[in-house]
Amino acid sequence: MNCAVPFCHRGCPLGNLIPEWNDLVYRGRWESALAALHATNNFPEFTGRICPAPCEASCVLSINRDPVAIEYVEKAIADRGFEEGWIKPQPPTQRTGKRVAVVGSGPAGLAAAQQLNRAGHSVTVFERDEYIGGLLTLGIPDFKLDKQVVQRRVDLMAEEGIKFRPNCNVGVDVPVSDLLNDYDAICLCGGSTHARPLEVPEADLGGIHPAMEYLTQQNRILAGQSVDPKNRISAEGKRVIILGGGDTGSDCLGTAHRQGAEVVYQFEILPEPPQERSDANPWPQWPLILRSSHAHEEGGVRDYNISTKRFSGANGLVTTLHAVRLQWGPPDSTGRPAMQEVPDSEFEIEADLVLLAMGFLHPEHGGMLAELGLDLDARGNVTTTEAKMTSRSGVFAAGDMARGQSLVVWAIAEGRQAAYGIDKYLMGASSTSPGRPARLTGC
Ligand SMILES: Cc1cc2nc3c(=O)[nH]c(=O)nc-3n(C[C@H](O)[C@H](O)[C@H](O)COP(=O)(O)OP(=O)(O)OC[C@H]3O[C@@H](n4cnc5c(N)ncnc54)[C@H](O)[C@@H]3O)c2cc1C
Ligand code: SF4
Repeated sequence: MNCAVPFCHRGCPLGNLIPEWNDLVYRGRWESALAALHATNNFPEFTGRICPAPCEASCVLSINRDPVAIEYVEKAIADRGFEEGWIKPQPPTQRTGKRVAVVGSGPAGLAAAQQLNRAGHSVTVFERDEYIGGLLTLGIPDFKLDKQVVQRRVDLMAEEGIKFRPNCNVGVDVPVSDLLNDYDAICLCGGSTHARPLEVPEADLGGIHPAMEYLTQQNRILAGQSVDPKNRISAEGKRVIILGGGDTGSDCLGTAHRQGAEVVYQFEILPEPPQERSDANPWPQWPLILRSSHAHEEGGVRDYNISTKRFSGANGLVTTLHAVRLQWGPPDSTGRPAMQEVPDSEFEIEADLVLLAMGFLHPEHGGMLAELGLDLDARGNVTTTEAKMTSRSGVFAAGDMARGQSLVVWAIAEGRQAAYGIDKYLMGASSTSPGRPARLTGC
């Protein structure tokens, strides 16, 4: 590849051995490429499809041209591995006699469970939803990640000996004390699900919904479930406004188009990001630039510097969003650019469906976290040591619950790190690989 010193593997939060597997593919040694890929990444079939690929941002080529299509190579290796039957269950040859409970079955919980099971511990994954997979299954739309891809991996893990307990809300259906009594270690991977609220007048009108209520309902319908028509949230024939310019908003956009929306607006409170890197954001840092997903290419109107002031409606249903345009002044005493309303810029726009996709603040603090009395950081996430142990001995936390809402690749990295910490805690040493924390990415 002639890149001299590669940077891509340092841009990847998993420290994936990208130059190695690219070269093995080039030489036609696909099975060896798969082994190199699995050495650091438990689920390349997920990241090869939905990772924003910080590795590509730090590829040497991307200094002045398109990077190597690393994510696509990763997907091709993983898909070939499944097609050829190279990816098989890998149960441990010996059991340690130690029992570990993993709470939450998103990518962090699944990665921790796979690592711990392969180290010989008996692992049970508790999941409050009816499906295993966390946001992979119920959050991320099918048009981005086919659920068969998730189920195929869950089935392999079950064959390896991991026990899955869906419909089991720890702290509600199962007391936390049972887990503390019955298991030698606990790994909390419950995600970051407390959404940022919109506190404006009339935000409780019908037709205004949190994005996750909308997305999870659509995923359940596509999985074959039926929904009571009076609870159905559909964009069909409607004027839709999405508040929030991030990934969740773009998933709502793609879903609304698929449901047959008349028109879809996506409003963001912050300014439009630049098309190119600024001088203060050089390669190989994660580029802070405008990003467009496939959903954006399909249509919709994106607009920036908009703050929602209130809603109005008729017969209990939203009909209008009232907003104002913003401008951003020099940093205030907190160091953040000061937000100011542009005088006389108030406007209103008709809407039948409003989806709130303004991000997530932190994990849910009630239930199991309150019962365990764990320390939280300033942002409300669970505090952990480098080994991912919480303030309570033997209780670990990983993924969005410890890091805040992030990415699948980071959740896998954190799950691996927690498994390494738990294995050392139980055995005094660990045979698992914690992966390598990335130093260069700001992603
Ligand atoms: C709409 C949306 C789209 C996204 N798209 C992408 C993308 O394209 N690419 C990307 O890299 N990232 C994406 N992300 C982010 C990514 O999905 C998350 O960062 C990742 O899933 C976090 O993994 P996790 O395992 O920490 O938590 P989660 O995936 O949130 O899983 C946590 C699980 O814990 C369960 N749980 C919580 N509390 C309990 C309890 N008390 N008992 C039992 N179970 C419990 C929950 O039900 C859930 O299933 C997206 C996020 C959202 C919301
Ligand atoms: S997991 Fe993401 S960052 Fe890492 S190699 Fe794959 S696409 Fe790149």
